[in-house]
Amino acid sequence: MTFEISHEQRLLVDTVRDFIKNELAPLEQEIEETGTLSDKVAQAIFEKSSALGLYGMNIPEQYGGGGLSCLDQIMCEEQFGHTTDILIRRAFGNVYEVLLSCEGAQIDRWLTPAVKGERVCSIAFTEPGAGSDAAGIKTKAVRRGDTWVLSGMKHYISDGAFSDFFVVTAVTDPDKGHRGISMFMVDKGMPGFSLGRDQQMMGIRGTSHLDLHFDEVELTDEHLLGREGEGLKLALSVLGRVRLAQVAARAVGKSTKILQMTLDHARDRHQFGQPLGDFQMVQQMLADSAMEINATRMALWQCAADIDAGRDPRANISALKVQGAELLGRVVDRAVQIFGGMGYSKDLPIERYYRDARIYRIFDGASEVHRSVVARALLKGSTELFDPWSA
Ligand SMILES: Cc1cc2nc3c(=O)[nH]c(=O)nc-3n(C[C@H](O)[C@H](O)[C@H](O)COP(=O)(O)OP(=O)(O)OC[C@H]3O[C@@H](n4cnc5c(N)ncnc54)[C@H](O)[C@@H]3O)c2cc1C
Repeated sequence: MTFEISHEQRLLVDTVRDFIKNELAPLEQEIEETGTLSDKVAQAIFEKSSALGLYGMNIPEQYGGGGLSCLDQIMCEEQFGHTTDILIRRAFGNVYEVLLSCEGAQIDRWLTPAVKGERVCSIAFTEPGAGSDAAGIKTKAVRRGDTWVLSGMKHYISDGAFSDFFVVTAVTDPDKGHRGISMFMVDKGMPGFSLGRDQQMMGIRGTSHLDLHFDEVELTDEHLLGREGEGLKLALSVLGRVRLAQVAARAVGKSTKILQMTLDHARDRHQFGQPLGDFQMVQQMLADSAMEINATRMALWQCAADIDAGRDPRANISALKVQGAELLGRVVDRAVQIFGGMGYSKDLPIERYYRDARIYRIFDGASEVHRSVVARALLKGSTELFDPWSA
């Protein structure tokens, strides 16, 4: 077993790091103040990152992606955590692996354009009455001859204002419970499909979170992603990697960046004639943050290596989603404390990081839901979750 970082991995991570530092970080404050990223700047970022091969790196090369292993992707995603959600989306893409279920004509219509960044995709599962309980959706698609007629609504759909198409869950057989849910790809502008309000959020400024309304939208079998009735199964199987990458790894990256800033402050700021870092209670906070970041990163790498080895560590992904999200919450809370009044003020980005961090414990499955997954797996005998010798 070795955790040595290869020359290629170092090169990849350095490229991503430099790109974020030079091209994206300078844009963050303006987005925070205005709440938007202009289409012109978004296009410029996209063109620069694509030229470096940094767009859609998680997708296999055969579809035009970067073909990264899960471990390499996790290392990049950690770096993505050093910037904001909207800039990550525009620069590196949010090409959901669920699109790899595209077949035949679907590949040219939805998958390939998404990987090339020609068409942007959002995931639309959540409804006002069904969040954690993804099987409780009311949106339905009814067979009418050769078509499916889609009706219902979704909300909180990230990047909805910018996206060109949406992967939408809908009930196709109400008698079959979670086995009666299917997934459809729905293009913006289809008759009957309209965009609703953009829900304002506590943080992650610049990203839209839209209501979507479907009023008898006519779809064909070509819009069906995966098999009929397997929508939820597909969602659960592919969203695992999203949670690992977009939540856990980014949380580690954000925590790392925040701790670096906090350390600088603890060295520079003097009170009572000494640097803050000389106070033992401050030292405890710094040491705890460093130890927790490292532990979570190592667990992440292990899990990513397991996926690359062909294993399906689903409960472990849930554990890491919780670990990453809660790590970030603790690290940013300590940062606000050590920065004191400056940490709470708008003069520094610390208060923004604090707001941006809060959603990590909620989206992509609340901590409580993922803890239940872990506990159920443990009770069923998955002792490898805490004891590698038992596997
Ligand atoms: C900024 C943002 C972006 C989002 N982006 C998207 C997106 O792009 N696409 C999309 O489809 N959805 C998106 N969502 C929705 C998100 O995934 C849901 O908000 C999340 O799954 C929780 O659902 P809910 O908000 O309905 O909370 P609820 O399901 O009402 O749960 C509320 C709380 O109840 C508790 N709880 C719920 N179930 C259990 C349980 N089984 N055991 C113990 N406690 C429980 C938890 O504490 C939970 O936080 C987004 C949400 C936000 C806020």
